Parts: sequence; C-alpha cells; structure tokens
Amino acid sequence: MSEIGSEQNPLRVAVIGAGPAGFYTISNFQRFKEIHTQIDLYDRLPTPFGLVRNGVAPDHQKDKSVTRAYDKSAQQPNVRFFGNVEYGSHIHMDDLKKHYHMVMFSNGAKMDRSLDVPGENLLGSHSATDFVAWYNGHPDYAHLEFDLSQESVAIVGIGNVAVDVARMLCMTDAERRATDMADHAIEALAKSNVKHVYMLGRRGPAQAAFTPPEIKELGELEDADIEVLADEGRLDALSQEDLDANGDKNAVKNVELIGGYAGQPLSGKSKTLTIRFLVSPTELQGDKQIKGIRIVRNELYLDDRGSIRPRATDNFEELPVGLVFRSVGYRGSPLPDVPFHEAWGSIHNELGRVTDGNGNNVEGLYCAGWIKRGPTGVIGTNKTDAQETVKCMVEDMEAGHHFNPTESLDAISSLMQSRQPDLISYDDWSRINAYEVAAGEAEGRPRVKLTSVPDMVKVARAG
Ligand code: NAP
Repeated sequence: MSEIGSEQNPLRVAVIGAGPAGFYTISNFQRFKEIHTQIDLYDRLPTPFGLVRNGVAPDHQKDKSVTRAYDKSAQQPNVRFFGNVEYGSHIHMDDLKKHYHMVMFSNGAKMDRSLDVPGENLLGSHSATDFVAWYNGHPDYAHLEFDLSQESVAIVGIGNVAVDVARMLCMTDAERRATDMADHAIEALAKSNVKHVYMLGRRGPAQAAFTPPEIKELGELEDADIEVLADEGRLDALSQEDLDANGDKNAVKNVELIGGYAGQPLSGKSKTLTIRFLVSPTELQGDKQIKGIRIVRNELYLDDRGSIRPRATDNFEELPVGLVFRSVGYRGSPLPDVPFHEAWGSIHNELGRVTDGNGNNVEGLYCAGWIKRGPTGVIGTNKTDAQETVKCMVEDMEAGHHFNPTESLDAISSLMQSRQPDLISYDDWSRINAYEVAAGEAEGRPRVKLTSVPDMVKVARAG
C-alpha cells in the first residue's frame, strides 16, 4: 500500500459538524499541497454552516458572507458532504474507524449554562440559546413558544448573544422583515407587547463581554431608546486602574460608548432597552409564571489571581418582568465514545488532540471550535483554532498515529444511504439554498428559511 497522504492512498478524514470549525479544517488541509486528502463533512442537519446559519443574528448578513469561502472548500473534488446524518445515530465510532484514518469533532456547543437561582424553571424562563435558534429557524427549535405578550423582559448576561437577543426584541417589524429571520419568529414578534428590555451585567462596563460594534449598533435602533443609569455607567476606581495598566482596546471603547449612553434622557421611542451593570439575579419570582426578577447590587474586588470579580452587597431590588432569558454562555454536550470534560462542557484535548483526561492521546481523534476550546471568540477565531488541530493531525499522520481503515473510500456512501435514505449531498444543499434565496428575492430579503427537515428534503429532491 502506498504511503498515507499520497494520491493513491489519501489521508481520509471525517469531520463531524459542518460549522465554521469544520470548514476551516478543510481549508487548513488545503494549505498542505503535498498531502492528498479525502475529507467527508457530516452534519446532523441537512444544512451546513452551523452557527453562521443558526446563531449569527439575522440582520448581520455581512458576517454570513464567510459562507462563500466555505462553498469553495465544499466544492473541491476531495470533499463530500453527508447532511442529515447524526453521529451516534446514523454513524458510530466503529464505522468511522473502519472508513477513516482520523476523525475531527467540530460539533460546537449547543447547550446553555444555567443561573443556579430559585425560580429558574418557572414559565417564562428560557435560555437565550433556545430563543436564538428559534428566531434563526433551526428545525429543532422552530416549534418553541415564547410569551411575547409580556411588556417587560430581562436578559441575564451582557455578552454578544445577549445584545443580539435584545436587538431582536427591540427592532421594529420593518427592521426584522428586511432580514432572514425565520417567518414564524417575524410573525410572533410582530404581535409582541414587549416595551421594556433589561440587560443585566454582573460586573461593570469595563468588564463587559460585548464588543464595541455591537454595543454601538444598539444606539442605532430605529424605535428603541438605550438607557444606562448614570452611576452604573461611571467607571469605578478599580476598573480605571486596571484599564490604565492593561489598556484593553475593546474595554476602553466599551467604556466610552456606555459613558455616552449613561444618564442621557430618553427620547420617547416606543421601546426602552436598559443596560444595567453590577447586578446579579438572586431569584426569578412568581408562582407558575415569572412575575419579576430579584437582583442584588454587586461591588467589584480583585481576586487572588488578579481578576476583577463581582461580590454581592446587601442591596436588593426587584424588576417586574414576565420573561427572562439567561444568556450566560453556551456549553458543549458529550458524544458517545469521546472523552468529555463535564465541568468545562468540552472534549478533553491537548491542542486539538483528543486525550483520555489523564493527558494520554486517544489515537485518531481530534477536535476544533467551541467543543475544543469552549464557547468563546468570533467566527474567524475558528480558523486559527482549526489550524492548530490540523497541524497536529499532519504530524500524527507522518508519525503513523491513526486508524487503519479496512473499507474502501466509496463504501461509506452506500452505508450512509442505507442508514439515512434522506441523505443530503452538497448539491442537494445547493438546491435548498437556491430555493430559499429565490423566495427571499421575491420579498426583498436575503432568503426565506425553510425550518423543517422534511421541507428541506422535499426541496432537495424536487430539484
Ligand atoms: P459570553 O461572551 O461569554 O458572555 C457571557 C455573559 O454572561 C458575560 O457577560 C458573563 O459575565 C455573564 N455571566 C456568566 N455567568 C453569569 C452568571 N452566573 N450570572 C450573571 N452573568 C453571568 O457568551 P455569549 O454572549 O453567549 O457569546 C459566546 C461567544 O459568541 C462570544 O465569544 C461572543 O463574542 C460570540 N458572539 C459574537 C457575536 C458577534 O460577533 N456579533 C454575536 C454573538 C456571539 P462575566 O463576564 O462577569 O463572566
């Protein structure tokens, strides 16, 4: 048998999860011109692109233009897409070992973190991740309902996901109808009574997780005023000292932008978005349905690792809200036969090489993206992340550390066809894409999304 990575015996890689980290795995391999590969990209949905389709906000079309580069990667002759195929259901570790030299997990982090406060299970308490997937038309979440008859809503957390959720709630109907938000969400939000949205940050503006363009964009909403309480928008001495010493550019800009909103009178727009700082939820209140949220005022202190942390005071407040979204980060979930770090919500790994948790490499298994490093960074962060893993894969190929597949290169296609009759190829996806874009053109929108798997399969087959 010729050497692995040669034209006659290409390195066979299965990539589980067709989001940004999956596509950057392909493009990183393409940089090794002398190594021949066969890369098979699997996704449990019929649609590729992961959070670019189902997470990035519907009004952020520019961010979604990365899919043009992903298209190019997917259309290379050595790349195949197996959509509508779920690892652990249609394909298992034993199958992968028989057909591939290496497996890359880039399946993201779809679960949410909890607040651990009483009342979190009351009606009206949701994760922001569910709401995001719902308004983006993810088929598994399209059926969800949110009580948008409520006038006041609290979002816990001040990361970019919280900002997205706040913006979707505060947009006008016309602003939403110019986007590719799922139709069911546009219609539900058109009937919404929401007038007051609170974003609750446990630390100050200098420690906020949102980024400057996102916080600036809030001030450009057509019919929503931004409110920041004067004393909460002002920088405390500890944060000022830290900014002076460390000068993080985003933090400096965030502080400046929040300072601009602080203490400004409201202009009488029909919605208000209040961004609160130095407050933590202590209880979601109500019998069955949320009636309010109890928050405690925090003060900041320097912990023994030099981080500025929040500490509760004895100063409490209650906000009368009927809906609460917790937006305190995503978390990965375990996959069959893959070592998982429960506390971190990610796969045990060293630079992307899967380990057994005791530092020993698990031969043939790799990971990239949020399931490797946790839910941080922007889309482009996955490029360098996948690069790091692919470098390890190439080193391991050269050192002979890999599975030894026994089946032919083509055998997997018929196996998948037998396990999933509604298998979706990249050509099938291209038909779904063309259908959605054409439907969008008719309405002056980027696309009208299909939100059910049977509808996607029907369109793919009708082509
Ligand atoms: P994130 O950036 O990690 O923000 C999480 C927020 O939750 C922080 O404000 C954090 O506060 C807060 N938090 C955590 N635990 C809490 C608790 N127990 N009580 C109260 N607050 C708590 O997470 P994310 O917003 O889900 O975003 C995930 C990643 O996607 C980020 O890297 C983000 O930048 C990226 N993203 C980017 C865009 C964009 O570029 N437009 C859009 C969406 C998402 P502390 O800081 O005090 O921990």
